[in-house]
Amino acid sequence: MLNTTVATVATLAVNGDRLMQMMADVAAIGSLPNGGVRRLAFSPEDREARQLVQRWMEAAGMTVTIDAAANMIGRYEGRFPHAPALATGSHLDTVPNAGIYDGTYGVLAGVEMARTLHDQGIRPDHPIEVIVFADEERTMIGSKAMAGKAKLDPNFYEHPNYEPIEIGLKYIGGNWSQLTSAQRDTDGLAAFVELHVEQGPVLEAAGSPMGLVTGIVGQRRYLITIDGSASHAGTTPMTMRQDAMVAASQIVLAVNRIGNKTGDGYGEQVATVGSMKLSPNVANTIPGRVEMTLDIRDLCNQRLDAMIGELQDEVVAIASQTDTQIQIKPQLRNEPVPVNSHIYNAIAQVCNELELPAQALPSRASHDAQIIASITDMGMIFVPSQGGISHSETEYTSPEHCVQGANILLHTLLKLDQHYRCPEEVTAEEITTSKTESKV
Ligand SMILES: [Zn+2]
Repeated sequence: MLNTTVATVATLAVNGDRLMQMMADVAAIGSLPNGGVRRLAFSPEDREARQLVQRWMEAAGMTVTIDAAANMIGRYEGRFPHAPALATGSHLDTVPNAGIYDGTYGVLAGVEMARTLHDQGIRPDHPIEVIVFADEERTMIGSKAMAGKAKLDPNFYEHPNYEPIEIGLKYIGGNWSQLTSAQRDTDGLAAFVELHVEQGPVLEAAGSPMGLVTGIVGQRRYLITIDGSASHAGTTPMTMRQDAMVAASQIVLAVNRIGNKTGDGYGEQVATVGSMKLSPNVANTIPGRVEMTLDIRDLCNQRLDAMIGELQDEVVAIASQTDTQIQIKPQLRNEPVPVNSHIYNAIAQVCNELELPAQALPSRASHDAQIIASITDMGMIFVPSQGGISHSETEYTSPEHCVQGANILLHTLLKLDQHYRCPEEVTAEEITTSKTESKV
């Protein structure tokens, strides 16, 4: 690193007031009367927020580009410009009734980190990038295109409430016809670290330590169909019923039991029946058919296999007992994504050095980081969410935690700057070595 000493780096800290002012300024774009925000991807609010963030990036000495997938990339040049970048970032788009922290916080903490480096004249070896991913909340088109995983059929992204994806992307600076050009690899990206609000209650319940994310859980979704027999609720004796709802209720309890299991590696899993449709859904008729969803998540694939295996065994018993036919059909499968162990350790070490208590936990929500993990080393930092609330106007993280998280991000990237070697450094060393050898 140039123009700095070990001592200044050790005491380096972001400007917390400036970070919180940026948070407030972005929160004002698409603000809702109750303190929340609505900044849907590709909307005028999304575009306005990105333009504002672009100005801050430029003020921090970053070069800003927008790739074909409309990812906005602020790049703070390193001492070795051809070295792969150390990147951070998140998203500025929101769900319809959002809080002001989800996504935006990770972006602005990254921008504040760059502004701090710029103010202090610190030039890391690697370029530092802050990425604003396009449309995280609905299609994840930005991170998927960057990872080479985007579906190239625009119809795939069709939605009655949204403009065609080609139009949306173009509106914020992307170019659908060049989408594949957004793809990157380890030659360009050495590592990606995303800082995010937890969006769950675990850290707060533990006394609000910082979160060391162990990975992003795998998610499996199933459609469970129960076929019984619809008949008269008055005239059908209890012993002669094939009540699909009774079977469904037992399945809900079985799912909950499996979700609550502890010991034997269990304890981090979650299991939910979130939607149920019964027919005929009439007060005086025994339900003949129930369709319900099952969502299970865990960091470990074998445990997910075991959970669904256990449920299948219970379902056989429930079907026989209720005289119904039950089918479980897989509908969605997202693999668990562990974080890179070196990045995890670097974050843990930084928390230790900054004397900030930290706790390991998995992420149970999706993030751009899990997509980017397929092309480079990935890590994640969480800060506590008050009441565990997110995707809601009442989402809140204290300024103190916001600033602490940004400092962890700053020092983690500086640590990673020392860990990853730059191609130019290697070449320079090799030249020195060969010169020394020729002298001998
Ligand atoms: Zn998010």
